[in-house]
Amino acid sequence: MDLGSQFRSAFGGRALAALDRAAALSAPGRAVDTLDVFLALMVVDAAAAWNRIWLEFGELNASAVGRYPDPRPEAGERWNGQPVTATCGQAIRAAVLLADGSDLMPASAGVLALCLVGEPTTAASRALAATSEEAHCVLLELVQEALVGGSWRDISSVLKQCFDRAADPGGPTGEDPDVQRFMKDPDVQRFVEDMADQMEALVGILNQFLRAGSPAESGQLLEQHPELLGLQVDKILAKSLKDAEEMRDEPGVRWLRERRGFLDNYRRLTGQTLPAATPVQRYGECPPDDHVMAHSIVEEPGYMSTAIRCEQCHVGYLVDLRAAEDGEMEAEYFVFPADGCDAISREIIMWAVATCEESFGVLERQGISVRRSTPVIGWRPESLRRHTRFIGDS
Ligand SMILES: [Zn+2]
Repeated sequence: MDLGSQFRSAFGGRALAALDRAAALSAPGRAVDTLDVFLALMVVDAAAAWNRIWLEFGELNASAVGRYPDPRPEAGERWNGQPVTATCGQAIRAAVLLADGSDLMPASAGVLALCLVGEPTTAASRALAATSEEAHCVLLELVQEALVGGSWRDISSVLKQCFDRAADPGGPTGEDPDVQRFMKDPDVQRFVEDMADQMEALVGILNQFLRAGSPAESGQLLEQHPELLGLQVDKILAKSLKDAEEMRDEPGVRWLRERRGFLDNYRRLTGQTLPAATPVQRYGECPPDDHVMAHSIVEEPGYMSTAIRCEQCHVGYLVDLRAAEDGEMEAEYFVFPADGCDAISREIIMWAVATCEESFGVLERQGISVRRSTPVIGWRPESLRRHTRFIGDS
């Protein structure tokens, strides 16, 4: 499971912003390590007394990235879809355990920092040259004073316990026993995993979009992933932007605003193909270049429905995805005709089928197997009525 979905509520704003930032800034496919998160904390928690640490260990900067690998490489864990090293995953879980066991929930930026250097072998400890037992003890003391604002009587042994318990990804998460019982219910697990996977897929694609190097690459991603135009993406972006503003992370704010502007322009642009003089009421499918496509997503536990249709002639397609008993996804999809028509043009059928297959491919690459129906061509499905808000509506 994605640590970002599992532990989102266990971290405070700054710690979360640092983890999100480290995942978003890491090159595609490169595992986020303890040093990446430590450097991100320096940005989002810039007001903290970092100088106390620099005086003793020398100031860290971005040039250290990649020079000090974490001892344990990536082993399948992720944050927001981006891989993290096993060492970093353990430090993240240890921070949750440390905060939980010390009545300090949600885990603060300071508690997270403490766990990132919780062992002398992590990339963050090594970049600070705090690898000897003596230097590491000094570092732990300074991090407690400067970043946590309090100290444990025997931090080394407290950390060791947390790290031992955090070593097993499937191990205890420090949650309350009622929550744990509830989470063990197979129905609940299926639902949570399913939702987390869908969210993870979306966040993964959003991260790709945010990191895209050129407008052409961004545009291509938007064409391949119409879900990026959905409401959920707006909510995630608005939340990230608010976090970045609160942290006074100026470059982050600028970058997120730029990307949101690009997304808005793209939506406006796809909406603008509507010529001003087009009659409101028309029958029959538009000429191929005149469609004005709009998107809508309806989500419920274990169910997601995506519809794309032309706002002028109402030709389009709809995909219903349901979580099946066996953990697979069942996909039903429909290509429906324009108002007042029985036939659907060949171009639209080919486009709809190709787009649907492409989005199933994305799910399958995320490790979700999809059982698809043969497409139902020429039928307006009942579930289309649930789509009441298409984005791109003018
Ligand atoms: Zn049309």
